[in-house]
Amino acid sequence: MRPGMAMQVAMKANMSETDVVIIGAGHNGLTCAAYLAMAGLKVKVVDRRKVVGGAAVTEEFFPGFRNSVAAYTVSLLNPKIIADLKLSEHGLRIVERRAQNFLPAPDGSYLLTGEGRTHQSVARLSQHDADQIGAFGRELEAIADVLRAFVLRAPPNLVEGFGAGAIREAFNAMGTAGILRRLSLDQQRSLLDLFTRSAGDMLDEVFENDLVKALYGFDAIVGNYASPYASGSAYVMLHHAFGEVNGKKGAWGHAIGGMGAITQAMARAASGHGAEIELEAGVREVIVERDRAVGVVLDNGETIHAGYVAASVNPKLLYTRLVPADALPADFLKRIGNWRNGSGTFRMNVALDALPSFTALPGEGDHLSAGIIIGPSLPYMDRAWLDARDLGWSREPVVELLIPSTLDDTLSPPGQHVASLFCQHVAPQLPGGRSWDDACDEVADLMIATVDRYAPGFAASVIGRQILSPLDLERQFGLLGGDIFHGALTLNQLFSARPMLGHADYRGPLKGLYHCGSGAHPGGGVTGAPGHNAAQVILGDHRALFG
Ligand SMILES: Cc1cc2nc3c(=O)[nH]c(=O)nc-3n(C[C@H](O)[C@H](O)[C@H](O)COP(=O)(O)OP(=O)(O)OC[C@H]3O[C@@H](n4cnc5c(N)ncnc54)[C@H](O)[C@@H]3O)c2cc1C
Repeated sequence: MRPGMAMQVAMKANMSETDVVIIGAGHNGLTCAAYLAMAGLKVKVVDRRKVVGGAAVTEEFFPGFRNSVAAYTVSLLNPKIIADLKLSEHGLRIVERRAQNFLPAPDGSYLLTGEGRTHQSVARLSQHDADQIGAFGRELEAIADVLRAFVLRAPPNLVEGFGAGAIREAFNAMGTAGILRRLSLDQQRSLLDLFTRSAGDMLDEVFENDLVKALYGFDAIVGNYASPYASGSAYVMLHHAFGEVNGKKGAWGHAIGGMGAITQAMARAASGHGAEIELEAGVREVIVERDRAVGVVLDNGETIHAGYVAASVNPKLLYTRLVPADALPADFLKRIGNWRNGSGTFRMNVALDALPSFTALPGEGDHLSAGIIIGPSLPYMDRAWLDARDLGWSREPVVELLIPSTLDDTLSPPGQHVASLFCQHVAPQLPGGRSWDDACDEVADLMIATVDRYAPGFAASVIGRQILSPLDLERQFGLLGGDIFHGALTLNQLFSARPMLGHADYRGPLKGLYHCGSGAHPGGGVTGAPGHNAAQVILGDHRALFG
């Protein structure tokens, strides 16, 4: 776009103060802003929090101790976005874990995975599983490649009639078919399995050892309030496999400085291209005139007019709280009101005066830089879910412990450490109308005691803690029901149905209103993909209007 065009566009688009206003400075809002600003549009991003980043943020949670307080580990962040936004030049450095995962079992056995370790460690548990794991990993990888091919493009969108949208979608459908045609028939069968079946059933068919099944099974229940034996849980497992770290597919790593380093770099990239970011600027309402979104009203009453509004907040939040109900088709409003939120996660950050020592593998070592999974079997995970349905949380919870200070000395004072506890299977809403505010301390104690059972002394080493119940996640980050993905990753809320059939192309039911957050394809995780994809759609529409 030519210099000065932004102002001309603003004039044409009903005297807007800005070309695009983006609701939410999470990583997707920032990614969207950066691409739009790079293309020459005048962009303003507004967020109700004091800091950019949304759920990808680093904060001091206890004096002297900083951590990625919500999202805590990186893999899904798309390499094209890292390159396009020049995030490395803006200070982002991602390092690999020294080991990928460590799963201790109550009987003192353990599984330790990572480059050059997995086969040997699995063989110590089961030669049968060691013989299977290579082929299983390759199959998962082949299907994850398909997902990768879809990540940075709008999924096929269902449109009615024969207008420009139908022509666009015909081309999109051809592109989709082209990607799927690359798969053999057998791989297409695997794709169907991974999109529809339960992870538990699939894993039981391939492996015999509990820890080996739990390694994959954990990915199937992360942020997924369901049994690993629930249909569709295999997709969630796949969703956690399409990432990479520094070119190593499927690996998980750490951003030096925490997840906030990613969003700080994104904010610098966006600002560097002229995007304006206003914090402590919550949106109260999206302004709609003649079926078109034309701006927003902030909590402080300030009005921002814009040619385009892009929302990175949860779609249910957008349409039930920010867009006036009478501006929306009744059937759309009813459906989005039923958007399923609630990933059943409980998040803690703890300050430690010593590293834990696990009974299964005592002392320090590379396993302490891994994702440490307390959840030794699929039946354990299933019981955890059943408990949570009955009681609100699990008597024996599933906890992933990550100690990023083993890889990054910027987070804690020398000799001390920070750890993330990502606990699965708590009820988004407690039974009996009980508030999470009344239960969170009890549940936090249980989570710490659970780790302590595998690493005696852990509880005593905790000198500070931050608790984020589902209610806290909603209050602090706007994650409805504490849903970490802005909506469950179930088949009816994925791909062409995210956030709803007919709106998978990042365009909402109102002209000028776009979805650029995790509630759009490809869903949750620190990917940057919804932000990237929405920006391409907005730019396409803008060029169609103004050349
Ligand atoms: C506890 C937890 C752990 C997770 N762990 C990982 C992980 O390890 N790795 C990973 O890849 N993913 C993880 N995720 C998922 C990932 O963090 C999210 O899917 C992703 O960060 C969402 O990004 P987003 O930009 O789409 O939305 P968000 O980050 O939610 O950003 C939306 C922004 O909108 C703002 N907002 C809300 N309402 C308003 C309003 N009315 N006006 C203005 N602004 C508003 C919010 O303040 C927020 O900044 C985790 C998430 C959580 C919560």
